[in-house]
Amino acid sequence: MKIVFLGTGGTYPSKIRNVTSIAVQLPGEVVVFDCGEGTQRQLMHSSVSFMKISRIFVSHLHADHFLGIPGLVQSMSLNGREDALNIYGPEGTKSNVEAMLRLGYFKSGFEVVTQDLPPGAVLDFGAYSVRCIEADHSIPSLAFCLEERPRPGKFNLKKAKKLSIPEGPLFRRLQEGRPVTVGGRKVVPKQVLGRPRLGRKLVYTGDTKPSKEVVKLSKNADVLIHDCTLDSSHGKLASDFGHSTAAEAAGIAKAARVRTLFLVHLSPRYESHEVLEREARKVFRNSIVAQDLMEFVVRYRE
Ligand SMILES: [Zn+2]
Ligand SMILES: [Zn+2]
Repeated sequence: MKIVFLGTGGTYPSKIRNVTSIAVQLPGEVVVFDCGEGTQRQLMHSSVSFMKISRIFVSHLHADHFLGIPGLVQSMSLNGREDALNIYGPEGTKSNVEAMLRLGYFKSGFEVVTQDLPPGAVLDFGAYSVRCIEADHSIPSLAFCLEERPRPGKFNLKKAKKLSIPEGPLFRRLQEGRPVTVGGRKVVPKQVLGRPRLGRKLVYTGDTKPSKEVVKLSKNADVLIHDCTLDSSHGKLASDFGHSTAAEAAGIAKAARVRTLFLVHLSPRYESHEVLEREARKVFRNSIVAQDLMEFVVRYRE
């Protein structure tokens, strides 16, 4: 699983940051969280193939989070895309996206399927699921948790030999979670496999004030990507507009015991990220201010 930060700024683009968008490279597909204006050009500068995008999750309908959709859809279509594209977001996403796709003399050559999600919805895509909760922002907003399905436990060779299972295809069958028959006896996977191993877990908050619900959603996550619009000297401003400071985002990461915190949605006022990173690291050591086109590989814990 690889995260590519396509844009890390908030509100409007600056010379150094495009507005927020995060691509997650999974086996055979790319999932994108938020798609602000200019995201397609950021994609072209990145290692991500924009034609492999299967789903876009929109956190909320402020312009800096979704205006990149129509241009991206047009470019996909002009490049001969045929596979459907799924777009999800809070209430109003379907009507807004459909209205945007009607603009201009253009008809997409592939299907765009848009769905409004109520907070609490869980979408199961087999290898992974995406759960959403309500974030604490000024308009209906969602925070998302992408979690891989647990992997089967490690194969115990000793136990397999004791059960006289011959090496080869039967090993693979058991590792895949299917029973086998050896010398007329049935052997089930749990006889030779260790405990299931956790999949990787990633949370993206979109725009939000510090939220207990986000702490719950992020418990033990490998990666938390959190709103960090301002530093603490602008704490009231952050709160008034439904955002978090660096210290607040770091407090959430600490409370949720995540492994790594990435800070995004920086106000265009910051030419350097240092003040924000320093502030966050005082609270939670493993805090990183994400930069445009930064990549991060999420490794398994074991
Ligand atoms: Zn925003
Ligand atoms: Zn917003």
